[in-house]
Amino acid sequence: MYKPEIAGFPYDKENDCYICPMGKPLPFKGFDRTADGRLQRNYWTAPSDCRQCSSKPTCAPKARCRKITRTAYDEQYLRAYARQHSRRGKRMKKLRQSTVEPVFGSLVHHYGLRNINVLGKSGAHKVMLLAAVAFNIRKYMRNKPKKSLSMAKAMEAEQPHAHIFNCWLTPVACTQSKREALEAIS
Ligand code: SF4
Repeated sequence: MYKPEIAGFPYDKENDCYICPMGKPLPFKGFDRTADGRLQRNYWTAPSDCRQCSSKPTCAPKARCRKITRTAYDEQYLRAYARQHSRRGKRMKKLRQSTVEPVFGSLVHHYGLRNINVLGKSGAHKVMLLAAVAFNIRKYMRNKPKKSLSMAKAMEAEQPHAHIFNCWLTPVACTQSKREALEAIS
């Protein structure tokens, strides 16, 4: 999890370095990549600064000097962090948690959308659209159960493709029927 600052090591933006509790600088030394390809910035002290330091056993016990690694996009991360922790950001987070996130949770856990079983973005887009349609119809039917359910059954009897939507209304994975639905609209 991203931390906006390192306890005891304030950042000196002007000189692009961190300052350790003993007042020694950790200047920028270069870029690096993690095993999964993320770009990082490295900072470390001069070994001569740490060698005689009384805090070395706790600060840099196994290394010659203290090293700090930060994401190369720290500025952007800091902006996002400040935005998320602002009053508006917290309000928006609460709103998101009570509106959009439960929908994603339902789609993943009850509508079989943990995986998308089609290839390509356009296929995935159709799957998401159908899932959203099914979710909204189901929500609507929950509010007006009797009338809407009978309408759905009447639709199925009159229109040959109506079962396509009914299979999406069932909150279980119904892969074969969902594939048929995608083929029918493509
Ligand atoms: S060990 Fe090095 S980095 Fe840590 S407090 Fe001492 S001088 Fe600073």
